[in-house]
Amino acid sequence: MITIKDECCNCAKPGHGCTGNRCTKKHIQHFYCDNCKAEVLYLFSYNGKQLCEDCLPDGVDADEIASVSEEVAL
Ligand SMILES: [Zn+2]
Ligand SMILES: [Zn+2]
Repeated sequence: MITIKDECCNCAKPGHGCTGNRCTKKHIQHFYCDNCKAEVLYLFSYNGKQLCEDCLPDGVDADEIASVSEEVAL
């Protein structure tokens, strides 16, 4: 599961360098494993689910896995 969070902490003030709506912290991506619910840096799409590396079945063919993190990278 991919969640976009607004983490702009009202930095839209003079001198803080925040660009308001274009602030990069307004759209921070968080990846959560569908199986263990842990927040992870890298998420993989397998069998219709988005899983962390630990939850991927052993011996799964690399061709069957898509890196979700890369797909959505800005
Ligand atoms: Zn901001
Ligand atoms: Zn997991």
